[in-house]
Amino acid sequence: MTTQPPLPDIQSLWQETAASRPAFDEMSSGHRFDVAIIGGGYTGLSTARYLARRGLSAVVLEASRIGWGASGRNGGVVSGKFRLSFSDIAARYGLDTARRMHDLGIESIDHVGELVEDYGIASAGFHPTGSLRCAHNQVSLDGLKKEVAWLHGTLGDRACSILSPEEMEAETGSRDFVGGMLNTHGGVIHPLNFVLGIAAGLKAAGIAIHEKAPVTAIRRDRNGVVLETPHGAVSAGQVVIATNSYSDLTPATSAVRKSIIPFRSAMIATEPLTDSAYASLLSQDRSYTETRRMMRWFRRAGDRVIYGGRGAFGKTDSEGAFAALHKAMVRQFPELAAVSVTHRWSGLVAMTMDSIPHLGRLDDRVVYAVGYNGTGVAMASNMGRYVAAMVAGESPDLGLLTRTPLKPVPLYPIREPVVRLVAGWYQFLDAIGR
Ligand SMILES: Cc1cc2nc3c(=O)[nH]c(=O)nc-3n(C[C@H](O)[C@H](O)[C@H](O)COP(=O)(O)OP(=O)(O)OC[C@H]3O[C@@H](n4cnc5c(N)ncnc54)[C@H](O)[C@@H]3O)c2cc1C
Repeated sequence: MTTQPPLPDIQSLWQETAASRPAFDEMSSGHRFDVAIIGGGYTGLSTARYLARRGLSAVVLEASRIGWGASGRNGGVVSGKFRLSFSDIAARYGLDTARRMHDLGIESIDHVGELVEDYGIASAGFHPTGSLRCAHNQVSLDGLKKEVAWLHGTLGDRACSILSPEEMEAETGSRDFVGGMLNTHGGVIHPLNFVLGIAAGLKAAGIAIHEKAPVTAIRRDRNGVVLETPHGAVSAGQVVIATNSYSDLTPATSAVRKSIIPFRSAMIATEPLTDSAYASLLSQDRSYTETRRMMRWFRRAGDRVIYGGRGAFGKTDSEGAFAALHKAMVRQFPELAAVSVTHRWSGLVAMTMDSIPHLGRLDDRVVYAVGYNGTGVAMASNMGRYVAAMVAGESPDLGLLTRTPLKPVPLYPIREPVVRLVAGWYQFLDAIGR
């Protein structure tokens, strides 16, 4: 039996304000389940919820603690969008595909409210206040206007509207934006309390969850699969890989690892802004994202401002990446220059070759759902219902998520320098206003 070094917790604002953690039974050997799930984030837990609804027994095996991955450290922006706009999806893949994915996005946002309600997760502080896309130049604003007209006219989605520069200033407290697109779908949440609340609800429903249980290998036997961990093995009929951007923790999930480019996303949180001078900043408590390719985003978390964007390249955080975020925040919100930053943290986003999440089957025993491309709070926590359907032998239709395969990343061994090059190119395009 091998022992693994523990994975360190990150020091985020979410950790500091976390609700109490549920305690889970220690992993023990020799149990059999219908399905074993690798990964204790939104995807894995949501899968356990929907398997149980189908009367299937499931175990969730998490390498660290519940929510240690992206689910416990993200920005808490609840959104149903994809990296490609719906009009682009329609143009490239057909209207039917775009409509299906648009419906999935709205369903996923609504589903966040359903989970919060079902499991009584008041500490998640879910505010369905909508989201605001903040145009950094006229080209981007023109694109938003086209998208809104298309959503109204083609999909009949009236939740989006265009805001003037004055309305943007009133909404954000910043003069930096030439206009924006308000979408009343979406909102903000405390991401760690959300994932802990789901886990507590599953535990109360009798679903087996084990922390500090890294799956180190998946073996096949006559009855299905055997999952090895340092504390013993469990056997199951099928296995679900729900490890997203953390699929390289052990070799067990190498089948999906090479289709994912982990990209570091970082954020900073200010000290509490108690002075009334700050009351006009982000006063509607929505989520706010910029239109730059190297997107930055911001929100309030109680009386603080959180500001996020690209993190360091490579395996660890850098002073430079946090300093760049701070500089961008102060440029947009000059009154924050005098305010201290109390928390800085980061995590890995799972990018895919086509910028789309994927749900699929590797073979008769293995199902996966990965690749949320930085928008997984709503999507991943809803994905379990479709993963469970696939486990049960059904073929759910989620547009590109299920109609197209998860593609391997070309030049995988040199992905880091390639990511730097692409990011540099995007930054250049942003700088010249294209
Ligand atoms: C910094 C950051 C900010 C983000 N902001 C937003 C946002 O504001 N809005 C939004 O919608 N999305 C956001 N995202 C994306 C979102 O957080 C993810 O898409 C979502 O959390 C994915 O959930 P998951 O359950 O698939 O993966 P994760 O939550 O990453 O869970 C995977 C888990 O698998 C475990 N694991 C890995 N290997 C093994 C193994 N061998 N055995 C057992 N366990 C294993 C890991 O420990 C990890 O806990 C952000 C992501 C990051 C990193």
